[in-house]
Amino acid sequence: MKRLPVQTLFVTVFFIAIFYSNSAYSPETQNPTFAQSQITADKIKILVVAGHDNDTWGARFMGVKEVELNRILADYLYDFLKNDPLFEPTRNQENGDYIPELAQYFKDNEAKIVAYRKERRETFNKKEIGLDVDEDEMIHNMVTEDVANNLYGTSMWAEEKDFDVTIHIHFNDYPGRPKDKAGKYRGFVVYAPSTYLKNGEKSIPLARAIYDELAKLQSKSNLPVEKDGLIESNELIALGARNSLSIPSALIEYAYIAEPRLQGAGREKVIREMAQETYVAIKGFYEKKSGKN
Ligand SMILES: [Zn+2]
Repeated sequence: MKRLPVQTLFVTVFFIAIFYSNSAYSPETQNPTFAQSQITADKIKILVVAGHDNDTWGARFMGVKEVELNRILADYLYDFLKNDPLFEPTRNQENGDYIPELAQYFKDNEAKIVAYRKERRETFNKKEIGLDVDEDEMIHNMVTEDVANNLYGTSMWAEEKDFDVTIHIHFNDYPGRPKDKAGKYRGFVVYAPSTYLKNGEKSIPLARAIYDELAKLQSKSNLPVEKDGLIESNELIALGARNSLSIPSALIEYAYIAEPRLQGAGREKVIREMAQETYVAIKGFYEKKSGKN
């Protein structure tokens, strides 16, 4: 069994958004042509999930919490997507917290979320989906009940809101990093749900597209267990562990939080580039899929 001594991720969350504001006076708005409705219907609904939250903020370095970096990147990615008519993005967080609709969903659906987790735990059978039970993978950080509930709740909400895809944003860290020092690990890693899970097949090509684009300009992780750069996981709740999610999803650890390039004034630019590369990858993926490219 490989063990991943790494502070890995996830938290997730989502929300939805629907905006296209058609002007009320336009007759076209009231009677959209078939072509127009097709354009609207074909918009790809993307949930951009900044990992972690104000209660559990993930990694931390020199007073900067991972969740803060995740939000910066998520905001850039959201903006890139929003400016593209192909996409209809939604963020799980804005202004430093969950969007109100998602926060309310967590509150209103606690019992349902807990019941779903229980059902998945009791019903999901690795052998049934062809997984060798001994074939384990990296051990990620154990998550608390609240974190697990938020992750499951986000997935449930995303399913109910008919998102087409979810993108989870994180920065990495590892146990044993010298305090307030850069440490020896750097680089990115992309996770997809494994082929054994019901959203795996649809997710892996997207995750690969993101991996390929990031790899053009970023170095991939030099942590030995992450060396493949693109990792299929059965265990990440955010990506649908225990077959809990149908929506294609990918999770990116963009860099190690203590890397020098993420410190100081240059940070914003670096994070913006990461977001842009992710946007370019997602766009290329969907254009290719729709035969535009
Ligand atoms: Zn994280």
